[in-house]
Amino acid sequence: MRIAVVGAGTAGLASALLLARDGHDVTIVERVVDPRPVGAGILVQPIGQRILDELGLAEALARCSTPVRHLNGRTQAGRTVLRFGYADAGGTAAGLGVHRGDLFGLMWAAALSAGIEVMTGWPVDDVRHDPDGWRLIGPDGDEAGPWDLVIGADGSRSRLRHRLRLATHDTGYPYGAIWAVVPDPGGLAGDVLWQRYGDTRIALGILPTGTGQASIFWAEPSRSMEATVAAGPAAWLDRARPYVGHLGSLVEQVAETGILGVRYRDVVVPRPFVVRDGHAIVLVGDAAHAMSPQLGMGASLALADAWSLASSLRRHPADLADALVEHVALRRNHVRWYTWLSRIMTPVFQSDLVPMGWARDLVFSPAARVPWVRRQFATILRGEQTSPFTSWAPTRPGGALAGPGGATGSAGSKARTGRRRC
Ligand SMILES: Cc1cc2nc3c(=O)[nH]c(=O)nc-3n(C[C@H](O)[C@H](O)[C@H](O)COP(=O)(O)OP(=O)(O)OC[C@H]3O[C@@H](n4cnc5c(N)ncnc54)[C@H](O)[C@@H]3O)c2cc1C
Repeated sequence: MRIAVVGAGTAGLASALLLARDGHDVTIVERVVDPRPVGAGILVQPIGQRILDELGLAEALARCSTPVRHLNGRTQAGRTVLRFGYADAGGTAAGLGVHRGDLFGLMWAAALSAGIEVMTGWPVDDVRHDPDGWRLIGPDGDEAGPWDLVIGADGSRSRLRHRLRLATHDTGYPYGAIWAVVPDPGGLAGDVLWQRYGDTRIALGILPTGTGQASIFWAEPSRSMEATVAAGPAAWLDRARPYVGHLGSLVEQVAETGILGVRYRDVVVPRPFVVRDGHAIVLVGDAAHAMSPQLGMGASLALADAWSLASSLRRHPADLADALVEHVALRRNHVRWYTWLSRIMTPVFQSDLVPMGWARDLVFSPAARVPWVRRQFATILRGEQTSPFTSWAPTRPGGALAGPGGATGSAGSKARTGRRRC
């Protein structure tokens, strides 16, 4: 098929790589003129690592990542709120803390060396269906196409989603984050996603990131985001200092690096595709299900979408509609579960609902000592759940994929050897 992938983020690049490998004629259409590594640290969960392993990128990812084995969340007074490790779910898998830019760089280089055509500096504004396929339309009326399949991987503020009116729910979260990436050559952040909470309006998180860096996140109401960024790092540090604990020397570096703000969206698209006369558009990644990053699942869900889409297209080579119906059915429970969990967890840690924080500190602390609860949290973080009792796993025709630490030597297993140069 002639396939256009709109957006060169995690979902778009993974989709392009998988579909080009299956022999399709793929073009990536990206609005940025010169796509470069940008962003802060993200967690690639074991489920996402399995798919990057299949793309042949696991070793490179491990060189660019720090394994994250534990989550340690406490109140400012030191009371435990969340404390568990990936090992509580059994096995040796760990999350990988990677700079979003490094993950992008790996996948972008793989796409270029696979000979995938790219159109950069091409912001898609609209789409039109003609008898020979879909055409993409730029803001000045430029046209490109036709394509049999357009993959909308244009992120949480997807233009394609908006134009096709596919969302039944599309709102901003009231809280976003102030963030910075700071040097951590001594590995002070260790292998722990470290969090300190005040009431529900205050949360500081530190994520080991890539090689010798750490990412700092601070819950910030969307309404005050611009003012906080404009006031600069010194004013922000005055607010954050009471929560920095033993990682104060990391956080103080924000005075040099500066701070940025990010907002999040909550998006539900029950049927993320349109088929007309045998030609289709399908949304993947944040375009299909943007959510709060509370559970660190954005990149991993995007990778799972790409894998599922490519697998369904392989199973139904003659019927695009059948392939998309199957793909969406196979993804539904996984996406729905994490959307729902993000929705219930986010107000507990990032909201104006202060009394909810009192309940959180009372209930979570004893619960964190119960092995079953720790196992549930760890399983959620691995990214595999579709309910407390069921899970999603990527499969290829012929069998299941090996898990992190499995026979194929995935990112998780390589990462156990420790910090490496990217
Ligand atoms: C600049 C940036 C920084 C980020 N930083 C972080 C971070 O620090 N931590 C974190 O957890 N998550 C971050 N994210 C989000 C994270 O990358 C995603 O949640 C996750 O990887 C899922 O990716 P995605 O491919 O669905 O969307 P995205 O990664 O958002 O990629 C969407 C792509 O589509 C392109 N695009 C958008 N609109 C159009 C259009 N109209 N026409 C053509 N191209 C278009 C964008 O330029 C981008 O390349 C960031 C996203 C971006 C774009």
